[in-house]
Amino acid sequence: MLDTERKLSSETKPLLPVLPLKNVVALPRSIIPVIVGRDFSIAAVEAALRNKKELFVTAQQSDETQVPTADDIYTVGTRAVILQASRMSNGTLKILIEGVCRSRIDSVVEEDGYIAVRAIDMPVASLEKTTQNEALWRTLFELFKRYVQLNDKVPNDIISMFADLEDLDYLADTVAIHIQLKLDDRQKVLEMVDLRKRAEKLVTMLKKEIEIIRAEQKIRKRVQTQVEKHQKDYYLHEQMRAIQSELGKDNQSKELEGFRKKAKKIRLSKEAMEKLETEITRLEQMQPTSPEAVVSRNYIEWLVSLPWHKASKDAVSLAKAEDLLEKSHAGMKKPKERVLEFIATKKFAGKHLKRSPIICLVGPPGVGKTSLAKSIAEALGRKFVRISLGGMRDEAEIRGHRKTYIGAMPGKIIQAMKKAKTVNPVMLLDEIDKMSMDFRGDPSSALLEVLDPELNPAFADYFLEVDYDLSQVLFVTTANIVDAIPYPLLDRMEIISLSGYTMQEKVQIAKQFLLPKQLKEHALTDTQLKLSDDVLKKIIEEYTKEAGVRQLERVITKIIRKSIQVLLGNKKLKNVSVDEEKIEKWLGSPKFKHLERKLEESIGLATGLAWTEVGGDVLDIEVTILKGKGSLALTGQLGDVMRESAEAALSYVRSRAKEFGIKVNFYADMDIHIHFPEGAIPKDGPSAGITVTTALVSALTKVAIKPGVAMTGEVTLRGRVLPVGGLKEKLLAATRLGMTKVIVSKENESDIKEFEKELDSSLQIIYAENMDDVLKEALVRQPFVRKPARRLTAKSTKQVRQSLTTK
Ligand code: ADP
Repeated sequence: MLDTERKLSSETKPLLPVLPLKNVVALPRSIIPVIVGRDFSIAAVEAALRNKKELFVTAQQSDETQVPTADDIYTVGTRAVILQASRMSNGTLKILIEGVCRSRIDSVVEEDGYIAVRAIDMPVASLEKTTQNEALWRTLFELFKRYVQLNDKVPNDIISMFADLEDLDYLADTVAIHIQLKLDDRQKVLEMVDLRKRAEKLVTMLKKEIEIIRAEQKIRKRVQTQVEKHQKDYYLHEQMRAIQSELGKDNQSKELEGFRKKAKKIRLSKEAMEKLETEITRLEQMQPTSPEAVVSRNYIEWLVSLPWHKASKDAVSLAKAEDLLEKSHAGMKKPKERVLEFIATKKFAGKHLKRSPIICLVGPPGVGKTSLAKSIAEALGRKFVRISLGGMRDEAEIRGHRKTYIGAMPGKIIQAMKKAKTVNPVMLLDEIDKMSMDFRGDPSSALLEVLDPELNPAFADYFLEVDYDLSQVLFVTTANIVDAIPYPLLDRMEIISLSGYTMQEKVQIAKQFLLPKQLKEHALTDTQLKLSDDVLKKIIEEYTKEAGVRQLERVITKIIRKSIQVLLGNKKLKNVSVDEEKIEKWLGSPKFKHLERKLEESIGLATGLAWTEVGGDVLDIEVTILKGKGSLALTGQLGDVMRESAEAALSYVRSRAKEFGIKVNFYADMDIHIHFPEGAIPKDGPSAGITVTTALVSALTKVAIKPGVAMTGEVTLRGRVLPVGGLKEKLLAATRLGMTKVIVSKENESDIKEFEKELDSSLQIIYAENMDDVLKEALVRQPFVRKPARRLTAKSTKQVRQSLTTK
């Protein structure tokens, strides 16, 4: 310390204890709290408190200095006054000081335990009221105002303390107090006594601060909006999921409740009820839209849509049933009787009838099998459902597929039960003879279970998984041929044969049933459309070739449609009368006219009768003899099947060669060629036996066969004529195709008697016992030379005569 300074008056340079502060610059008029802990500071404060409570407050140049000397502190500081002081329990002091004015150390005075200085106040001159200064004030004020607005930490009302340029010093220091400044900068501000410079510096600093705050706010806002958007999206998604699942669950639980109610109402079997409950519990735990849920729901829907108890009452009287059958079908005397018998037993034996036979309606297409089955259902007052078995080769079609995949379904039986809606419908199993089997399993074995009364109370469908009771179902089956029905099934069935119709019958059926039915369906009356018997005959003969009436019905429908066109085209027209000319115009030229056969004598060409699935047909068998080495050639579609018949015929002819006047070893130097046409079914092969033999004899003896003769029958090696089946169809075909005489086995006589009345009376029927009888009737003259042919027995001659006279 300089001696000269010591001499300065204490009035102008008051002696002040120094309070060094770490990192803090106290500015005039700022009030700051200070915790005073260091001994020398405590001593300084105590000294101040003993005096005028005044201190020289200044910052340490380095905050690391623990016991600063006069050299470690800034010489420019603040004269401050202690506003409050309190001692804390640990000996430290807590004081509140207020800066009074800028002050500069003039000299340092050694004191005991603390630094004391003589300091000189640094007064700040006010500025002149120039526009520039005014502008400076305003700029600083406005900036500060904005800063205060932007910064929450500065109280808003601070602004109101400044009114004009005169406050610039105060304003500048307040700004300096409130903006963030490094220690150095703040110290610089403190040291700036030049108010204009200080204000300008603060303007720059404030601007920078404002920029920083704005940038900060922008960043914060951006971050905030990003976070908010994420949060919002997440929240909305969560909410949506919750809503969806609530809605789904809600709908689902309503639906499941519905299933439960329905199950109770329709009284599911105990087993099915248990299964339903397990399935519903499973479904409740699933996401409603998951694939498993779809499978599960489908299964439940099936369970509750099947009939379990509901049955139709068998309420119709036998007389009514008879009436109904009569009204819906022409002819069919025998089948109707059998059906009525069946209905009667069914009605009167009721539930006691454990093993009710299963009806199998057998006959060619279109003879009314389906419609008869429908009538049975109607007569019993039951529902009718139909399953087509034709072409079925997979067991799963009967028993269904396991429910493990989407789209799995029960088999056709259960599907039909759903359609029937009752447990006791009449179920028609159509074309039971057309099922086949392959590696996928045998549908007929599944069908056996369906038809067996021992097994069908607990029919197992793979999809359903629970047993289903089929015992009250009335099964009716249909087939075209009995032979093709699998034997175990056939064993359980009662065959009712329906045969083809004669021309007259077809005309009657068309007039009484098909035409009225179709007119009604097309909303016409019988006065609007007239079809004469002759026109119907023409349609039947020239536009259809069938045993039944299916094609006929189709053709009639076509004629009705054409007539409607005509009626619509000419409003004045009251009715259409369909004549032969119109028929040809509407239906085109006749399709089957060529079938009319030329009837002429022929050598080696015999006409057989064949039975086909669509009724009877004729079968021309040709034999040609060629030079050769004794080979037998068979051609045509039925070649192989006919071989047996052909060989038997050959053996027969060889054994009778002498009598026929042919060389005993005739076959040594000739080839025999037999040709069979297409059309007949293979099983029918043997029934061509007598035809082949006749053609062979004719070819070898060169004796012609009479025109208009047709035949059917099997032949033994010794020439006995054996009976065959399908006679009604065959005889109807013979008439249809213009034959005049038919030779059959004597043993078929009783069969023919059954339907003889229905046949055309011009057809002559010959009952033959052996080949000689056949040849005698078929050939234009007797080929026998050596030995006269065995005569017809007395009995059979009489019968032939009888049949001739009755025709
Ligand atoms: P299928 O089942 O034998 O093939 P449908 O029962 O389908 O034959 O019969 C074909 C059509 O012929 C049906 O419209 C049926 O009503 C009719 N029909 C067949 N036979 C008769 C008949 N005897 N009387 C009346 N309509 C018949």
